[in-house]
Amino acid sequence: MRTIETLGELTGKTVLVRADLNVPLKDGVITDDGRVRAASKTLQTLRESGAKIVLISHLGRPKGQVDEALSLRPVAERLAEVLGAPVDFVTATVGAEVTEAAAKLQNGAVLLLENLRFNAAETSKDKAERAAFAQQLSAAVAADAFVLDGFGVVHRQQASVTELAEILPSAAGELVAAEVAVLEQLTTDAARPYTVVLGGSKVSDKLGVIDHLLERVDTLLIGGGMVFTFLAAKGYSVGASLLEEDQIPTVLEYLERAAANGVEIVLPTDIVVAEKFAADAAHETVAADKMTETAFGDAGMGLDIGPASAAMFAQKIRASKTVFWNGPMGVFEMPAFAAGTRAVAKALTECAGLAVVGGGDSAAAVRLLGFADADFGHISTGGGASLEFLEGKQLPGLEGLK
Ligand code: ADP
Ligand code: MG
Repeated sequence: MRTIETLGELTGKTVLVRADLNVPLKDGVITDDGRVRAASKTLQTLRESGAKIVLISHLGRPKGQVDEALSLRPVAERLAEVLGAPVDFVTATVGAEVTEAAAKLQNGAVLLLENLRFNAAETSKDKAERAAFAQQLSAAVAADAFVLDGFGVVHRQQASVTELAEILPSAAGELVAAEVAVLEQLTTDAARPYTVVLGGSKVSDKLGVIDHLLERVDTLLIGGGMVFTFLAAKGYSVGASLLEEDQIPTVLEYLERAAANGVEIVLPTDIVVAEKFAADAAHETVAADKMTETAFGDAGMGLDIGPASAAMFAQKIRASKTVFWNGPMGVFEMPAFAAGTRAVAKALTECAGLAVVGGGDSAAAVRLLGFADADFGHISTGGGASLEFLEGKQLPGLEGLK
């Protein structure tokens, strides 16, 4: 993959940088600035090299329409604080206003354009439309080079990800390079024992990863909402817990394949079952094969792995040389059902090997539960992108940089 150095001397050159500044916003206020901070490294490098930087990103899903609530303006303000330097902002992505603002850029200065997805061509299914938009973007700022640094979008075929790389000298930014280096370790020469912990809400989202990892890991620990499809596949009653019945045959096939490959798939032995899906719901901890035997009967819902399972998962994580974790073990947003997720997160911080967290909600969970980013070997900024990488898929954004 080409790195920034391959672009040569950048003093006075205009560099378009595609970052992932898709931060969570509440009433115009950024609630987690992790992605802004993650984007700053490459920007500092480019500033020091004397480049004129035009930064582009999407925010949310405005579906090709201007939506004031999804303006990148608050991000420009936060980025200026992080960089300790002014960040200009223009409320357009193409056109005369952009050309004028770009022409005024001094060496080392940064200009952020408005949300790319205010323009429908950015995510168009039609390659010609995307290519035309990329051409307009590049021409509007008279770009000399393109740097792709939004790891969260490298699995997307979008104008600012794939088509820009086709028309300009292009390279991966430092964030993308760092993410790829870690994920490559996880897929090629991971130190053993290698444990993957999977949770989260939808089993169907993660089946591709399980499929690919069954040939590569020693142990798979399964928790979260997806575990109930596994428990149902083993013939247990799961009450009103999340269940994807149509995935049971696939799950059974994985259990068989794991046994044949000598891969250990570990399911929780105890579950916290709640009366309903609510923070203050009554709850009981029971054996995984007795989930419908609580006071709530068939209406009981499994909302977390139990303490015995959490301790067992933690022990296996600590004993591993490589760990990848995606998906919370329970409904961590409710304190009563956060213990399993907390135990797994803590064990990752205690693991002496490489411990990687991937997934938007998993990253949010570790921060909400009070852990620091630095406690982990690596926290991926791209949930979908990191999962697709681990599935062994080719990611269009990365292919364009080779
Ligand atoms: P990530 O974004 O890290 O990939 P997911 O999006 O797959 O993770 O899943 C996160 C969600 O899964 C969280 O909102 C969490 O509340 C939910 N979840 C975890 N365990 C359960 C459960 N037992 N029942 C319902 N939802 C669950
Ligand atoms: Mg998620």
